[in-house]
Amino acid sequence: MEYPKISNCEQSSETIDDVEKNNTINYVDSQTIEMVSRIPERIYISNSETGNSVFVNKHFKKGELIYKGKYNLIEDKEFSIKMNLIKNHDQTKKETFILEKNVHAVSIGNNKRKLFFFDSFMNHSCDPNTFTFYYINEHYDVFAARDINSDEELTCDYLNFEYDLRDKNILKCECKSNNCLERIVGFKFLTNDQKKSRLNIITKDVFNSWVEEYKYKDGDTVESVFVDNLKLPVGIVITNSDSLVATKSFYSGDILFEGESKNINEKTIVIAVTENGRKWMDHEINSDLSRNYHELTSFIKHSDDANVLIKLTSNYLYQVIAIKNINENEELLSKNN
Ligand SMILES: [Zn+2]
Repeated sequence: MEYPKISNCEQSSETIDDVEKNNTINYVDSQTIEMVSRIPERIYISNSETGNSVFVNKHFKKGELIYKGKYNLIEDKEFSIKMNLIKNHDQTKKETFILEKNVHAVSIGNNKRKLFFFDSFMNHSCDPNTFTFYYINEHYDVFAARDINSDEELTCDYLNFEYDLRDKNILKCECKSNNCLERIVGFKFLTNDQKKSRLNIITKDVFNSWVEEYKYKDGDTVESVFVDNLKLPVGIVITNSDSLVATKSFYSGDILFEGESKNINEKTIVIAVTENGRKWMDHEINSDLSRNYHELTSFIKHSDDANVLIKLTSNYLYQVIAIKNINENEELLSKNN
C-alpha cells in the first residue's frame, strides 16, 4: 500500500507533555509493573471478534494524526504487567487489564522489549488503516493511512515493527483484506518486494536487525544488505524525487564531488540512507553477475542537455565536474550515466 508522506500529514494540539502525563509506568518491584493509561477522547477500547481492540469515535481523514503515543523499553524477563485504563479522562471509569509480555510487548533483540500503553490492544491488518512515525526517543505519532469512519477499529501492520514474531506468529491472519499475507511471522521473512514497499515505514529496530543479520561483507556472494549512509557534499541536496540539486552556484570546470564505484554481488541489496529516508537502489547486473553501485552519482538523472560530466579517474574512482555554469536550484544532469 502507499502510505501518505509524513511531511503532508496534519498535526494535532496534543503535546508530548500530555502523552507523558496520561501514560505512566511504575515498577512496583523487580517482577511487577503497573501502568496507568488515559485513553484520548477520540479513542475507545471495546471487544471485536479478536478480543480487546482499539476503536475511534470520530471520522479521520487520510494523513490526519490520530494520537501521539509512547512506549517503555523493558527488560525481556518475566514480569507481571497490570494496566489501568482510564476512559475519557474520567477517573471513575477505570478498568484493569493484565498484559502478557510475550503477547503484548514487542521484542527488539538485545534482551529488550517495547511495552506500549492502551494501544497494546491494536490488532494487525495486512491492509492497516494506521501507520506510525517514530521519533528518536520513545515517542511516536499514529496517523490515518486512509479515511477512517467513526466506530471503525484501528489496525496497524505488525510487520512494520516486528522483525521476527517468534512466539507471537500469526499462522492464519484473519484481517480479511484482499492482500492478506496469511502467515504473519515478521519483516525478516518477507519477499524483497514486500520489504521494499515497507522500507520507509519500518522502525529503526527492524531496519537495524535486518541490516545486522544480513550485513554485506566484502566479497560476499550470498544475499546480503549493503547500507550506504550518503553524505552530501557542500552545495548539493537530494530532493523528494531523488534528484540532486545545487544549493549554490558552480562554475564550469568546478569539481562538484568525487566518489567511488563499489563492486558487489548480484544478490546484495543496496540501501542508500539519505536525508529523505531510505532508498532501495536498483542496479544493472553485469554479465559476470556483479553489480556496480555508484553511490551519490546514481541519483544524477540522464539528459542530453547535461550540466555535469561523470569522469572516471581510475577503475573505481570518479569525479563529477560542471561542464557549464550551474545556478542555485538547478538539477544536476549528465549525459553519460
Ligand atoms: Zn492479513
